[in-house]
Amino acid sequence: MSSDPTFEVPEVLESPEEVLSTLEKDGKRRWIYPTPERGPWYWRRLALGWFLIVVFVAAPIVHIGGKPAIFLDIAHREFTFMGQTLYATDTLLLMLFMLAALLSVFLGTALLGRLWCGWGCPQTVYMEFVFRPIERLLEGKESTRKRNDAKDMTFNLAMRKTLKYLIFLVIALGMAHTFVAYFVSWPRLLEWMTGPPAEHFGFFIMMALTTGLILFDFAFFREQMCTIVCPYARFQSVLMDRDSLIVSYDSGRGEPRGRRKKARKKGRQGEARLEIPALGDCIDCGACVRTCPTGIDIREGLQMECIGCTQCVDACDAIMLKVDKPTGLIRYTSENVLDNKPSRVLRPRVIIYSVLLIIISGLFLTAFIGRDAVDLNLSRVPGAPFTKLPDERIANRVRFRIQNRTGGSEVFSISATEPEGTELRIIGNPRIELGDGEVTHIDAWVVTPTTVFTKGSATGMFKIDSEHGGTRMAEFNLLGPSQGAN
Ligand code: SF4
Ligand code: SF4
Repeated sequence: MSSDPTFEVPEVLESPEEVLSTLEKDGKRRWIYPTPERGPWYWRRLALGWFLIVVFVAAPIVHIGGKPAIFLDIAHREFTFMGQTLYATDTLLLMLFMLAALLSVFLGTALLGRLWCGWGCPQTVYMEFVFRPIERLLEGKESTRKRNDAKDMTFNLAMRKTLKYLIFLVIALGMAHTFVAYFVSWPRLLEWMTGPPAEHFGFFIMMALTTGLILFDFAFFREQMCTIVCPYARFQSVLMDRDSLIVSYDSGRGEPRGRRKKARKKGRQGEARLEIPALGDCIDCGACVRTCPTGIDIREGLQMECIGCTQCVDACDAIMLKVDKPTGLIRYTSENVLDNKPSRVLRPRVIIYSVLLIIISGLFLTAFIGRDAVDLNLSRVPGAPFTKLPDERIANRVRFRIQNRTGGSEVFSISATEPEGTELRIIGNPRIELGDGEVTHIDAWVVTPTTVFTKGSATGMFKIDSEHGGTRMAEFNLLGPSQGAN
C-alpha cells in the first residue's frame, strides 16, 4: 500500500437524520445518485449479475429433453424444471419442493445475510448493471445529474431524458416478455404477438401492465422497492443473528471519525496538538454514503435498508488505500466478530435449518425418483350406481383418467385384475396413445359376477401397462346388490 499525497478529503455528505433514507425531512422523495466505485467487489457482482441476466433470458428459451428449462404452466398446473415436469397431481412433490426452497432461503439468510439482495435479486442486478449505466451514459455522472436535475430543464437535457426513457421502455418490454414466457412459453407468446391484437386482447393488457410496472420500478420507484415494498427485507431480520455474515462498518477501528485535513490545519495554526482527539481510521469522507444505492450511512450500524451490495466496501477500501490505511474498515463480517466475541458458523438455527433441508430434499428426491411413469385415477360416471345385465352379471360404469409421464409418446392398455372373472369393456378406441404429459379420459363398463359383492360392494383392481414397460395399479370400489338381494 502507498499513500497518495495529492489526495484531498472530499466534502462531507450531509445525511438526513431520523427519516427514511429515501425521504427528505419534509417527506418528499429524496432522489439518490449513488456514485459507483469500481473495486474488486463491483467486478465480481458485475460478472455474476450478467451471468444471471443471461440465465433469466435463456431459461424459457433453452430446451432440455424437449421442454423449456423452466416453464411454469399455471393454466395447466404443470411446472417444468430442467426438463422434468411436476403435475398438479404431484401434490406431495410440489409441497416438498416449496418447503425445500423456503428452508434454503432461511438457511442462506442465517449464514450469509442479504447476499441474495445484493448479488442475485433482479431488482439490484438490472438496476445497477443495466438501467443505471444507461442513465450515466446519457445524462452524465452522478454529480452532473444531481446538478442538472436541480436546475430548470434545458432542451438538451429533455432530449437526453426522452432517449433514456425510450431505451428503458424497450428494456422493460424485453423483460416483460421474458417474464411472461416463463408462464406461457415462447412459442405461445410469439403466436400471440404475431396474431391479430383483437384475438389476444387480454395478452396485450397483461403485457402493457407488466411493462408499465417494470418501467415504473426501474425508472422511478427504484430503491424503494427494497426499502418499502419487498417482504423479504421485512422478515430477514428475524432470520439473521449476530453470527450472520453482513456488510458492516468496523466502528472499533473507525471511530472517532474525523477529517485529517482539518486536524492538520489546526496543528499548523499553533493550537495545542494535545486537544486534537486521537482519530480512528474513518476520515469521514462520505464516500460510503455517496455510493450507497439505498442512501444509508452504514456507519450508523446494521440497518434494514442495507441490501448488502458491497458498494460501500469498494468505496471505503479505495479511500483507505489513498490514506495508507489497511482496507476492510467496511467489510463482510458478523456482529459478534466486530464485538470481539466468539463467532460460530454452526449454531442452533443453522443446524435446525440444515437438518430439515437435508430431510426434505431427501424425501423429495426419493418421491421424485419413485414416482409413477403414468398417473391413473378412477371415478364413477354419474347415473345409476350399477346395472344388472341379462346374464345376471353386474356392470359399473367408470371413468379412467390417464396421464402420460414417461417423458415421450407412449401407448397404454388397461385391464381389470380383480375380482376374479371381471371383464373390462372399454367404450371407444381401446388403443390409448398419449404424448408426454397428455391427459385422457376413458369410459368403460366393469362387468363382474354377482357373487363378488359383499354388503353391496366389492374391491376392483385395475392395471395400466405401457408399451415400453412400466405398470401402475389402481383400486376402485365397485357397487352391486347386497348379498341375497335380486
Ligand atoms: S450500506 Fe453498503 S452494502 Fe448496504 S446497501 Fe449501502 S452500499 Fe450497499
Ligand atoms: S467509512 Fe470509509 S468511506 Fe465511509 S466515511 Fe469513513 S473513510 Fe470514508
